[in-house]
Amino acid sequence: MTSKTGLIFFPAFDWAISPTHPEREERLLYTKDQLFEEGLMDLPEIEEFAPRLASHKDIARTHFCVPKVSDQVLEAHLIASGAGILLAEKVWQKELKNAFALVRPPGHHSMRVVHGNRGFCNINNEAIVVDYLRHHHGLKKIAIVDTDVHHGDGTQEIFYHDPDVLCISFHQDGRTIYPGTGFINELGGPTAFARTLNVPLPVGTTDEELHYVLDEFILPVLRDFQPEFIINSAGQDNHYTDPLGSICMTAQGYALLNEKLKPDLAVLEGGYAIETALPYVNLAIILAMAGQDYSYVREPHALNIEHSKQRTTEIKATVAKLQEIWRNRDQIDLDKIFGKKQYWQRKKSVYYDTDGFSENQTEVIKRCGYCSGYLTVESTAARGSRKNSKVFCISIPITACRSCQEEAYKSYSEAQGNSYYDYVYMQDKVRDVFLIYNKQSRQESSL
Ligand SMILES: [Zn+2]
Ligand SMILES: [Zn+2]
Repeated sequence: MTSKTGLIFFPAFDWAISPTHPEREERLLYTKDQLFEEGLMDLPEIEEFAPRLASHKDIARTHFCVPKVSDQVLEAHLIASGAGILLAEKVWQKELKNAFALVRPPGHHSMRVVHGNRGFCNINNEAIVVDYLRHHHGLKKIAIVDTDVHHGDGTQEIFYHDPDVLCISFHQDGRTIYPGTGFINELGGPTAFARTLNVPLPVGTTDEELHYVLDEFILPVLRDFQPEFIINSAGQDNHYTDPLGSICMTAQGYALLNEKLKPDLAVLEGGYAIETALPYVNLAIILAMAGQDYSYVREPHALNIEHSKQRTTEIKATVAKLQEIWRNRDQIDLDKIFGKKQYWQRKKSVYYDTDGFSENQTEVIKRCGYCSGYLTVESTAARGSRKNSKVFCISIPITACRSCQEEAYKSYSEAQGNSYYDYVYMQDKVRDVFLIYNKQSRQESSL
């Protein structure tokens, strides 16, 4: 077995929200300079790869892009998600020990249905890797640990009804930062209860406090869940110099986290302190992944740690509540939380902050006794002056039973006859077939 750590750099020179936007190509350029300066690329333990493009089918396996993949996704997005796929596959096939995709645009705010860009994200790179690994390599249980300062709300939403994907996110408390979610009562739907776990952190949280969360909660949960593959949504904006966040992690804190978590694949998410944090955090993480000494890595601006008893007490109380939820996850009466109906429904509104419009959704999951149940999403969004897009999406999970598959296809043909919808989508992960029915042209296309 190889002991190498694989890297892909993709700064996406031709992709930007605007020239002065914090999510820009320099985020990676300073890191790359630092790694070269430190001689990292000469180490025999590290190997750099060129990215490859994800296919439109790889995107459709995870997302419903409205109206179609090419309307939401540019080449930069295909390269960023393709980089994750390439590295994940090499790690799974044991050609690499582990890997880090240092790519942009980021992805963890992208949800299942995509009408536009939210939180700098169009498509969810990590979720695309999960569906790829399940389809092509038959993996069953995967964990995603999101270490970005912002709640990984897109990843949470995509796997909210998926019992085989454990999503853990720690982040600055949603009452004080975008996107305003990620509280401890967001635990997954009736078919995947306690597969979503959120640890909101108070402003000022330090390395020591964060490692308490990791040691007492996240690592024990991962040991119990026993995933075959661990993906780290590696956001570096918990750093004490980050302009968007207010958490006080250091490069050392991040590297130690990585050493304990041992992700198979890390995928870069946020991190906007281009000169003062990203080069050092990424350097320390890569050294940790490659099993090298990272103790010498220090940021140019020192941190004045502010101790607070109240903050530590608050974090310990959050961890205690989450430990109790996890301990009791199999004894909880789900009917008490979700009701007794076989079809559980939730309505939600999704705001696309980058593009400035809202989407309204009704999501229905079938609570099937034999599989994790199929899902339907009715979604409408008005983007700028464009007319409302009204779509109906059906998702058949890869583990679906025969009867759920048949019922889902019945729902697909019924929706085609419903004059309300502009597009009807079928995402059949069992057969790996992805269909779009265009109401106006009465044409069905497939990927
Ligand atoms: Zn972030
Ligand atoms: Zn079923």
